[in-house]
Amino acid sequence: MKIHEISGKTGHSRILVGKVMDDAAMYLPEECPLVIITDDTVRHYYEGRFPKASTVISIGTGEKIKTLDTVAMIYERLVSLQADRSVFLLGIGGGIVCDITGFVASTYLRGVRFGYMATTLLAQVDAGVGGKTGVNFMGYKNMVGTFNQPELVFCDPRFFQTLPEEELSCGFAEIVKHAAIADAMYFETLEHFSMKEQVRDPDVMEPIVYRSVLIKAAIVNRDEREKGERRKLNFGHTLGHALEKTAGLRHGQAVSIGMMSAARLSMEKNLLSAEDVLRLSVLLESLHLPTRADMDVPAVIDALGRDKKREGDMIYFVLMNGIGDALIEKIRLDLLEKILTEQ
Ligand code: NAD
Ligand code: ZN
Repeated sequence: MKIHEISGKTGHSRILVGKVMDDAAMYLPEECPLVIITDDTVRHYYEGRFPKASTVISIGTGEKIKTLDTVAMIYERLVSLQADRSVFLLGIGGGIVCDITGFVASTYLRGVRFGYMATTLLAQVDAGVGGKTGVNFMGYKNMVGTFNQPELVFCDPRFFQTLPEEELSCGFAEIVKHAAIADAMYFETLEHFSMKEQVRDPDVMEPIVYRSVLIKAAIVNRDEREKGERRKLNFGHTLGHALEKTAGLRHGQAVSIGMMSAARLSMEKNLLSAEDVLRLSVLLESLHLPTRADMDVPAVIDALGRDKKREGDMIYFVLMNGIGDALIEKIRLDLLEKILTEQ
């Protein structure tokens, strides 16, 4: 097992990666009553292995429950339990459970101690790291939230044994993103990875999760509140979000296509070779991720026009500068339209 520590202005976080799900109690503060927040599916599979808690609160599943109503339901349960400032909230689940637990913990009694046991690949390499919490509001994703670091994050790759393959692929979209923007050697390691044979092998997945945690944590540490470098983590996401809205794709699938378009744009700007664009698409396909989609280009451009990263007819865009490096540039929307039409 490996431990990585993040220490920033919004708190201090210990991330434990390895076979830790049965030993979590050893790391949790002994003096605090424990309340677990989880979802129905995770509870069904893993309740027998949860650390001993005073209460387990289930929140259903799906993006539709990531709302202030669910937050209010949890506050009510905490109040009826007479939970005071000494409570420790542990979210056991995917990104949805983590984001909600973090938000409740940031606001209940003006803030209580909290941590996550991340059970999806996406939550282990992305949602659990970095200290962003939140819920959706009026149909807008993550509209209301806080920056607050979970004290502890447990990432056990044995959770992937029950995770549907599509969820694994979506997690890999973020992993490829980390390699593409920050670590050429990691990219090469992933090129030798076999989704079919290795994704459910905890000994293979542990170093992959750890490497991604390190990359995300390092970027976040340098830019906790997303003023500069953290924006590199939006690689594939500007277009990805527009595709999620217009083409009804899953987040990871949309990001995969977004990364491909950003790579083609990087080639157009002589930052990336045709060979490297091909390497990215072969890698994404090997992880069962789409690299192109039938897109309604005017609708996508329209959605991009509404993006908060837009300035006039330009938009801030993350480009690859070779494999393992990224830079942020202002791009003309009409150039983007050209790339999307040609793909
Ligand atoms: P999720 O939490 O909905 O989990 C996906 C599905 O897998 C759910 O149905 C869940 O019940 C099930 N599941 C979870 N663990 C399982 C396991 N071990 N075995 C079997 N099934 C399991 O989705 P997600 O992809 O983990 O997270 C998506 C959310 O994360 C989004 O709401 C997104 O906004 C958020 N997010 C937040 C950040 C951040 O920085 N805070 C970053 C990225 C994503
Ligand atoms: Zn993402």
